[in-house]
Amino acid sequence: MLSALRGPFLSYTGNPFEVDDASCFHYESDGLILIDHGRILSAGAYDPAVLPAGVVPVHYPDHLIMPGFIDAHVHYPQMPMIGAHGRQLLEWLNHYVFETEQRYGDIDFARLVAKAFLRESLRAGVTTPITYCTVHPESVDAYFEEASKLGLRTGAGKVLMDRNAPAGLRDTAQTGYDQSKRLAARWHGQGRLFYAVTPRFAPTSTEAQLALAGTLRHEIDGLYLQTHLSENRAELAWVAELFPGCRDYLDVYDRFGLVGRRCLFGHAVHLSEREWARLAQAEATVVHCPTSNLFLGSGLFNLKRALVSANPVRTALGSDLGAGTSFSPLATLAEAYKIAQLRGDALSPHQAFYLATRGSAHAIDQAAHIGQIAPGQDADLVVLDPRATPLLAARQGFVDSLEALLFVLMTLGSDRVVRATYVAGHKRHDRDDAAGELT
Ligand SMILES: [Zn+2]
Repeated sequence: MLSALRGPFLSYTGNPFEVDDASCFHYESDGLILIDHGRILSAGAYDPAVLPAGVVPVHYPDHLIMPGFIDAHVHYPQMPMIGAHGRQLLEWLNHYVFETEQRYGDIDFARLVAKAFLRESLRAGVTTPITYCTVHPESVDAYFEEASKLGLRTGAGKVLMDRNAPAGLRDTAQTGYDQSKRLAARWHGQGRLFYAVTPRFAPTSTEAQLALAGTLRHEIDGLYLQTHLSENRAELAWVAELFPGCRDYLDVYDRFGLVGRRCLFGHAVHLSEREWARLAQAEATVVHCPTSNLFLGSGLFNLKRALVSANPVRTALGSDLGAGTSFSPLATLAEAYKIAQLRGDALSPHQAFYLATRGSAHAIDQAAHIGQIAPGQDADLVVLDPRATPLLAARQGFVDSLEALLFVLMTLGSDRVVRATYVAGHKRHDRDDAAGELT
């Protein structure tokens, strides 16, 4: 079962938001990664003497191997409506999202989209997506069935909505709880899959539903919770109206036991200092979704407050498709950089790539398994081709450092840059394969 990859590799050993860039990564210009039963056995400089007899490494000279990317906030059912025009959050939900999501009671349709979604994720180098499904249990079964065929480490959950949504997309507090519990029992901990209790956001759940979500979260060991928090100003005003007794948006979730470790809050754009401090104290996670925030005109996430602070908050990176506009974490990083620029802050290339790999792995509480190229980690890897397009090839000719190479990749890169994607040591995407996919 032994296999090996050879080529330049880069992996983060420390947090560049806390220490110098130079002291937080492991780079090999000619590296060797040995893989055994889906895990990394060793990773260091290439040395023919350490290569076990009979193992011929797959060689990627002039490429860059990195840990597979993490997309900690995404809606696979919204894939058919990416790039819908011209609305802000609440109108956009009503006009596009709720229309599309009504189709997922049909498991064959859900399977079709889930398969296409995972293929695109792998093409973008994403090996761990954490996705919302729809209110239909079928949408969860379809997703996990397809993900388990690929052996992915991935999370998902049935959306809970018992008010302020069309009849075809509503459950009740009790049916939402019962269905979620059944799905979690079926899928959580199967292979590398994990389940996330998924109230869409405060306005679409009654207090009874949020309370049962809080109960369920503690009933099965290791369950995640994912929801949206403080994305858009009109949403904030609506939440204040619906929950007049709460101090702020986060407090709504807090009152129902929904703020803690493994609780993932998408967006977190308009937080008060009290909310930031509470998230830090609770070891909860925010997920920065730059392309979505710009596309919907939601606002500019405060990455500096999140990560460069006396009490930093666990922060992961997300695409938030279909409001997000790209599967590619490279495109997501480019927009994260621009948001930081608009705030007068900086985002270094190492900070950016850390965020897409080890930083997100830590934030989602999976750093023991993914996010690094190191012994014992899952062999989820992405092979980047820095000269993937004529423009990139020309531009990289003028690059004289690893930092410059990374920054050009995140500024000009796309799925074209992803030469191959490995999941638990198996190649699941090969850009240059004639069939276009191996899945
Ligand atoms: Zn979202």
